[in-house]
Amino acid sequence: MPTPQELLKAAKADIREVETKDVVDLVGKVTFLDVREPDEYEQGAIPGAVHLPRGHLEFQVEGKIPDKAAPLVVYCAGGVRSAFAVKTLQELGYQDVVSVIGGFNRWKDDGLTWATPQTLTPEQRNQYQRHLLLPEVGEKGQLKLLASKVLMLGAGGLGSPAAMYLAAAGVGTLGIIDMDVVDASNLQRQILHNLDRVGMRKVDSAKAQLQSMNPDLVVHTYDTRLGADNILDIIDGYDLIVDGTDNFPTRYLVNDAALLKKIPVIHGSIFRFEGQVTIFDPYNGPCYRCLIPEPPPAELAPSCAEAGVLGVLPGIVGSIQALEAIKMLLKLGEPLVGRLLAFDALEESFRTFKVRRDPSCPACGEGAGEIIIAEYDDLCMPHAH
Ligand SMILES: [Zn+2]
Repeated sequence: MPTPQELLKAAKADIREVETKDVVDLVGKVTFLDVREPDEYEQGAIPGAVHLPRGHLEFQVEGKIPDKAAPLVVYCAGGVRSAFAVKTLQELGYQDVVSVIGGFNRWKDDGLTWATPQTLTPEQRNQYQRHLLLPEVGEKGQLKLLASKVLMLGAGGLGSPAAMYLAAAGVGTLGIIDMDVVDASNLQRQILHNLDRVGMRKVDSAKAQLQSMNPDLVVHTYDTRLGADNILDIIDGYDLIVDGTDNFPTRYLVNDAALLKKIPVIHGSIFRFEGQVTIFDPYNGPCYRCLIPEPPPAELAPSCAEAGVLGVLPGIVGSIQALEAIKMLLKLGEPLVGRLLAFDALEESFRTFKVRRDPSCPACGEGAGEIIIAEYDDLCMPHAH
């Protein structure tokens, strides 16, 4: 039987070891893998390092670090565990792996930059474990969601499913603006609310429902009419706006204010049996005015009048808005920027159309003047779907 010292010697013979000074400039450019135990890692680590304790390496590394050709710098506390880890990684097919001599202790002694990593609590780890199993989300992504702030315009048909899924997924802060009260005639589609809360302010009903799903969630409520006088203050500080309002004046108001503050808007709309979703990402894709430069007259705007809408439909459209919000926050996949998704419930069909920035757009075009926040039609009050 070889002694531990002999095993270490054999492992070191098969791997490449580097000094801290050889890899310090690689921080932020290549993947650093920290194979220490959680209590060691939580007290300090190389910034941005992927954490995977040595004991979990074989079974979890391919999920956390799928690219076996990319360079990988492995460290532990003193350079022993990382030497064994590098040997194992090479056997698993990782092609360019090195172990840091002296490990994190040497790193600190050399006065190099380190940080106390943000980590999830055991409860959060349990609640979001299906996210953590996705390498594209992982702990880093979950921490990002928890630090994110999303503003819901409306707690109605679209805002209900969108807010519920965002709360469930662990978005840390939701703002909700709605000036209505819970009404039994809306419960056919507004699933944030229920019959026990008829007559309650919708923002309060929404807050109660969302916090029962996720007690950590911070909810800011705005029981007010969104107007030119308050919109810039309300949207300030949010990462994203999920628009579930149903009228043209509010959409223009939101568009112009969001352009000014450079906040992406996840736009959703529904009418009878059809729904649409797109993202207005300021100066990166089209804005609402690129598609519809001026509001139609009130009498021609279908959504200013009461229109029928099939139940469930807002659930689908609002859920897609929530999904797009999470993709934007995590920079995942291809968000609906520059594309408009149209859903027809009767056909059960989805179609996407390219939508482009208009160089002569009055709001975001090249010759556009200063954005002035103004309201269009006071007769058509903002309501959520
Ligand atoms: Zn535009």
